[in-house]
Amino acid sequence: MKLLTQLGWNATLPIRTISKFTLIEVLGGNMSESKVYYMDAHSESTETALSSKMITVFDAAGLDEMIKPNDIVAIKVHCGEWNNSAYLRPLYARTLADRIKELGGRPFVCDTTTSTYSPWGSRSSEIDILQTAERNGYSSATLGCPFICADGFIGTSDFVVDIPEGYILKEAYVAQAIAAADALIALTHFKGHSMGVIGGALKNLGIGAQSKRGKFNVHMGGHPSYGLGAAGVFHPENFKGKANTPDWEILEDCCPFNLYHINEKDELEWDGDKCANCLGCFGVMGPRGLMDIPPIQFDAVDAAIADACLGVEKAVGRGKVGYINMALDVSPACDCAGHADVPIVPHLGVFASTDAVAIDMACVDKAREAEGIKGSKAELMEAHHVGDKKFEAAAATFHSQSEVTSINTGHEIGLGSRNYELIECEPESPERFRFPYDKRPSRQRFGAKFEKFQPFPYDKFDGKGFNRLDVVDLDKVKHHYEDDSEVVNVEQPTSSEN
Ligand code: SF4
Repeated sequence: MKLLTQLGWNATLPIRTISKFTLIEVLGGNMSESKVYYMDAHSESTETALSSKMITVFDAAGLDEMIKPNDIVAIKVHCGEWNNSAYLRPLYARTLADRIKELGGRPFVCDTTTSTYSPWGSRSSEIDILQTAERNGYSSATLGCPFICADGFIGTSDFVVDIPEGYILKEAYVAQAIAAADALIALTHFKGHSMGVIGGALKNLGIGAQSKRGKFNVHMGGHPSYGLGAAGVFHPENFKGKANTPDWEILEDCCPFNLYHINEKDELEWDGDKCANCLGCFGVMGPRGLMDIPPIQFDAVDAAIADACLGVEKAVGRGKVGYINMALDVSPACDCAGHADVPIVPHLGVFASTDAVAIDMACVDKAREAEGIKGSKAELMEAHHVGDKKFEAAAATFHSQSEVTSINTGHEIGLGSRNYELIECEPESPERFRFPYDKRPSRQRFGAKFEKFQPFPYDKFDGKGFNRLDVVDLDKVKHHYEDDSEVVNVEQPTSSEN
């Protein structure tokens, strides 16, 4: 019997192996929970390679059955900001695209334009994101299918869907190419996020599959209670004047809506009523004491993320959206950061589900079960122990944020369930995952070619091939010489007066 934690944090229940997969048997639990298929991150063979495990859980979760011949299938990824290095390697998207083609589908890999959340963002327009994606390895050439910016050149290409069930949002603006797809697989790098606290499946669609105006909607732009214009506290009294602010121009240039001005009296003005919550001024105004960013806005955004994810499912079609979470390189910040910190926990594994809420809950639980990584922000914040809420400590911007706000909201609105069965899959045959272009063993592939183009010079050095010494002292170079140092006992001087 193995023990796995499921049904949210704190419930440890027995499992048993009943077939190809190791299935958790829920004892006394509610059997209506969602299923999350899982494999750990250990790898020692072809069939346990993480890309192989990804396909194993994809099939186990029944995501393969969502793909019908000729279906256009969107694979939603985060292609990573300029200089980020924690984003998912393109290998995973390529492997998934190949599997979708095998099933008869026509895949494309996509991301969306971002809000101008920094004055120097690298993915805020189609031309920007395509160039950043290509630098990060995402291109048609590497993926074997098109890489698409799903919401158009500026980010206004979208499909509006009503979500009366929404906790706070009542409509979502879904990136057009995603809304137009016949099926959608959210291929998510699970990690932390400064605003969402976790960057999982819910955020991949709740922010990442929204158009640019969809992002302003989720970010609470113009909201009468939670928007920056309503809840932010502007401190123009902390502006020291142009003469004392060498980079004063950035105070105006950080806002793409032109809402900050330094007037003729050398005073900083802000037209907060028109704030779209693009987040562009947060990193400029906040550290200078010119704006108090309202924590409640972040809580509202985290709830809205689940609403917007529901909007995506409704736009594509419920039952036509699948989720894969690759919980690897679990950095505290999102891949939209232009850097990547030490991961806060070891690789957690590979997950698949039809439920965005359950899959994120499973990843959060795994992170809580794990020891935090030494030297990471989790340790710095003293949240590296088993059971600690590591994302709240190491990823959130404000201490009051919760790592389960989006999850709980998704549960409330019927998007999914935070209760789940964790089903551990066994590796498949290595044959399935071998190099596909020629599966014959070596002699069949190279025997004749090596005779024609002999790579080993048998005709040299009496058949030994190369000019080398016959025997050398290998122990000498294997030896750790620092172990030989003797402990020097320094004698303490004795006092001549005694
Ligand atoms: S004031 Fe509003 S619209 Fe302008 S940069 Fe700040 S968040 Fe964006």
